[in-house]
Amino acid sequence: MGFLQRQLLSELDALERGALRRRLRTIDSAHGPRIAYQGRSMLMLSSNNYLGLASHPALIRAAAAASEKFGTGAGASRLIAGNLSVLSDLEARLAEFKGVEAALVFGSGYLANLGTIPALAGPQDAILSDELNHASLIDGCRLARAPVMVYRHCDLDHLKAMLEGARGARRRIIVTDSVFSMDGDLAPLADIVELARRHQAAVMIDEAHAVGVLGPHGAGLASALNLEREIDIHMGTLSKALGSYGAYVAGTRTLIDWLINRARSFIFTTGLPPASAAAAIAAIDLIRSEPERLRRLWDNGCYLSQGLKAAGFRLGATATPILPVIVGQARPALDLAEALIRRDVFVLAIRPPTVPEGTARLRVTPIADHTRADLDQALAAFAAAGREAGLIQR
Ligand SMILES: *Cc1c(COP(=O)(O)O)cnc(C)c1O
Repeated sequence: MGFLQRQLLSELDALERGALRRRLRTIDSAHGPRIAYQGRSMLMLSSNNYLGLASHPALIRAAAAASEKFGTGAGASRLIAGNLSVLSDLEARLAEFKGVEAALVFGSGYLANLGTIPALAGPQDAILSDELNHASLIDGCRLARAPVMVYRHCDLDHLKAMLEGARGARRRIIVTDSVFSMDGDLAPLADIVELARRHQAAVMIDEAHAVGVLGPHGAGLASALNLEREIDIHMGTLSKALGSYGAYVAGTRTLIDWLINRARSFIFTTGLPPASAAAAIAAIDLIRSEPERLRRLWDNGCYLSQGLKAAGFRLGATATPILPVIVGQARPALDLAEALIRRDVFVLAIRPPTVPEGTARLRVTPIADHTRADLDQALAAFAAAGREAGLIQR
């Protein structure tokens, strides 16, 4: 056995001992309220498929039609020969959806953040970043090689002090999730915008978990607060509530022209597959025509949240249908997830480094298509699994 192999095995063992080793679980069906796993039908409570669109017939039809017309791949990077009209159509729809001038589609949310931040900030600038921002924002900041000032989670006083400290920078950019992915709480966007205006800073928000979830027609938190025009850089994904794959950055025409010229994760990669783009367009149409999906998602979030609290579980301070059941250490979080899977409820444990040390949790996410009977079944399983894992009495 080679030297590298031995080192990696010993490091994997260390992860295993700390209950931090990750493994892939293979699902044998489309996403929906239930999935097929290990030959069983299970309630799915761990997806980002909030509106149930990932297996919606209208999206599947749109994806199939786009594949028939444009083929399965974009064929080249966007700036060479990969700018298929379905991608431009999607960008026009996204700009309208977000209430801004223009949008640019990236291969994924990770790529969007990885390319956009370094295109806008360099060593002479300053980035102000919430400590619970998504890993893709953190990695985008690292690649920018700009000084990064990390402020305490949603702490406006801390942010203000840092903005004052960054007065000498050419540019100050505040970067934040709008809905925090692992906690479901909201950034204080109106106050951040106000602070930014006073300190001549730009604001970039990541709406991955807000698109399709918040705002009239699901356009996100900025739209819910009427702040579309105050946000300089809107980022969001097509892969969560929109049920497809890919992501966008939206804002002024000038911003988009700049990114086309400078965002390396846009320039040096192949365009999004036509099927993904067409499915995302169909998803935006569906959210418009069936706004009751959002209401069902929120109703389900409230119902499940109340039931979990009543059973004695400790929930984090969420403001959305993302329900963080806080366990603490990684091992009992894994045990609870296993006990739920044995009871046909698919929920996974989220452990460090995805969340801070001592805050391992189950991230529970109902979708619009779950019925009351589904949620009651989930609550019964949670109560039994929680008792078995020694996390709740009763
Ligand atoms: C999921 C997520 C991303 C990454 O999006 P992908 O399209 O899955 O790469 C970026 N930011 C946040 C906040 C996310 O939750």
